[in-house]
Amino acid sequence: MKILVVNAGSSSLKFQLLDMENEQVIAKGNCDRIGIDGHASAKTFTGAEYNADCNFPTHTEAFEKLVEIITTGDTKVINSMAEISAVGHRIVQGADIFDKSCLVTDEIIDQIDNLAELAPVHNHPHALALRACKKVIPADCPQVVVFDTAFHQTMPPKAYMFGLPYECYRDYHVRKYGFHGTSHRFVSGELARAMGKNPEDLKIVSCHLGNGSSITAVDAGKSVDTTMGFTPLDGVVMGTRSGAVDPSAVTYVAKKLGLTPDEMSDYLNKKSGLLGVSGVSSDNREVQKAADEGNERAKLVSEMLCYEIKKYIGSFAAAMNGMDAVLFTGGIGENSWEVRQGVCENMEYLGIKIDEELNKNTRGKLMKISTPDSKVEVWIVPTNEELLIARDTLAIVEASK
Ligand code: AMP
Repeated sequence: MKILVVNAGSSSLKFQLLDMENEQVIAKGNCDRIGIDGHASAKTFTGAEYNADCNFPTHTEAFEKLVEIITTGDTKVINSMAEISAVGHRIVQGADIFDKSCLVTDEIIDQIDNLAELAPVHNHPHALALRACKKVIPADCPQVVVFDTAFHQTMPPKAYMFGLPYECYRDYHVRKYGFHGTSHRFVSGELARAMGKNPEDLKIVSCHLGNGSSITAVDAGKSVDTTMGFTPLDGVVMGTRSGAVDPSAVTYVAKKLGLTPDEMSDYLNKKSGLLGVSGVSSDNREVQKAADEGNERAKLVSEMLCYEIKKYIGSFAAAMNGMDAVLFTGGIGENSWEVRQGVCENMEYLGIKIDEELNKNTRGKLMKISTPDSKVEVWIVPTNEELLIARDTLAIVEASK
């Protein structure tokens, strides 16, 4: 059984082809700069590589290139698309319409497109990719959609409502949706397995820290609260996103700088966060390096990041009436011992004690980094959203037979 996983953006089509017999990646790549000056790159498990400038006016040509890459030349890993059992698509916004992954129909593509108002950068390109995929793959190859928001649909209203007039929710669907759900679901499941526990018996605080970061309270396998909100802007300070800010500061700055709502949104999403505070970079490695070299603003934003994560861990422990484990994942969570240490120091009151040496010496692998006497276990759990999308896709296709 081979499953193609697709993550489409407005100008890119990232893909992975997985063999589900052993859950190995056979080929992965990206058809990038769609509608601009296209470029395709790919790598196969045999070490073959593809790199070329291409012409992709739309997602359809990008999809055709993807098919060409995996079925011809040095990077040929299958004879034809008929060998692919199904295609799984990552979808950012499913709102409160989709609480689980599902098979794609024309009606579902329209629903995803209609949600573009809530996720303008993502959902319309997802719909374009779904329609393009339908044109290019064999008619009998099913497509499945997996939503970033679906895992958080178990949040209770008291967690997802904002203190705005009720009509904002009723008429405009303004509420917390939460994102990174595929990652939080994957890593919390992996952690339960690693701890040898039933997910039902665990309270986990899952910290996905990367370019975008979110923290989720997972109680008995279900998301009960999360830091990202109506959009992925809320919560902790991120690469270029501000995280939570007093809304009055937003209206005040917009007035001061004479920014329209869209320009202000850009300011908060693209010019803030690690980049905006440090003035150095949106990349945590660069910020850490500058901080180590004595850059005060880089040091400040690194401290802010750890402090904010620490506060959310405390608030989620309160929300769940305790916690059994904290996990770190994502580019920063898996790799930055400095951030993990900054978050976990002085947390003994909450039962968190990490082994500093183990923490310093561990990167990117599944590992417990708390001391044996730590009441709360602390783990690094590498995420793999594509694998979860492929697993969901396979399960849904098998169940529909
Ligand atoms: P992601 O969005 O999950 O790919 O994560 C990207 C972030 O992870 C960037 O801010 C990187 O600087 C950070 N990152 C990746 N590797 C490391 C590392 N070895 N040490 C610190 N941060 C890292």
